[in-house]
Amino acid sequence: MKMLGGILTFALLITAAIPAVAHAQDIKVTLLGTGSPPAVMTRFGPSILVEAGGHTLLFDAGRGALQRLNQLKVKWQDVRGVFFTHLHSDHVVGFPDLWLTGWLTPGRTDPLNVWGPRGTKHMMSHLEQAYEFDIRIRLYDDRPSPEGIVLLTEEIAEGVVYDKGGVKITAFEVDHAPIKPAFGYRIDYAGRSVVLSGDTRVSENLIRHAQGVDVLIHEVAAPETFQRAGATPERTKSVIAHHVTPEQAGEVFSRTKPKLAVYSHIVLPSATEQDLIPPTRKTYSGPLELGEDLMVIEVGQSIQVRRPARPSS
Ligand SMILES: [Zn+2]
Ligand SMILES: [Zn+2]
Repeated sequence: MKMLGGILTFALLITAAIPAVAHAQDIKVTLLGTGSPPAVMTRFGPSILVEAGGHTLLFDAGRGALQRLNQLKVKWQDVRGVFFTHLHSDHVVGFPDLWLTGWLTPGRTDPLNVWGPRGTKHMMSHLEQAYEFDIRIRLYDDRPSPEGIVLLTEEIAEGVVYDKGGVKITAFEVDHAPIKPAFGYRIDYAGRSVVLSGDTRVSENLIRHAQGVDVLIHEVAAPETFQRAGATPERTKSVIAHHVTPEQAGEVFSRTKPKLAVYSHIVLPSATEQDLIPPTRKTYSGPLELGEDLMVIEVGQSIQVRRPARPSS
């Protein structure tokens, strides 16, 4: 009986260990928000969750990032830090919510690491000032952990910015002028790789850093959406000049040859599949997915894409 118990325990351990081991070599990417400044319900603000080797990291914190994490049941306390691509408000406006609400409930007890371009320290210290009233009152009234509200901010330059437990994150400059610097990020883990474009027009530096990557997640702007929204031709031209059109993105994908190309940060978020995919196909014929909020991309021996279940109508 004792022996049988031992065998059973051993068998259970093996069964439990097999998926964990396979999973441990993966990079899991979840698109929390795939939108841009317009406040629509279908695409929240830009934010991407990356999980690899037990590290949980967030790239940008647009509108609704905390709600999306909560929806996924990702413990906010487990998020080790936030990497900003640049400081345009649509990429950072969800941050105070993550920082303050995530401190109060569910109760963050460790300092929060923040990496970002020049100007990030300035922004973080001003956020601390802006919310000084709340922080002071909470500390003696609600009594959350004093460490949980601390921000450890690092301003980064191009190069390796994080290298722990086999998870390597490299920042590289992209071209979002006049917003300088603006970064894209490359995540490498266990031979898998993911590149996030951040906001950029066609960037030769991105093309260099994304050569042969497993997954390239790129922003895109569809001129038709501006026309439909009633923007003047001048305004349309000026916004598009900060981003890539689907045809240009297709050229970037053709030159980098990712195993999978994904669109996220859809400018404007009202863009349809028709606005984005056929024009991309003029210049790129490889694997391509149009990102949506809560889409999961599992980068392992193969690349699996899971879309969120839609409520049945
Ligand atoms: Zn931007
Ligand atoms: Zn943006």
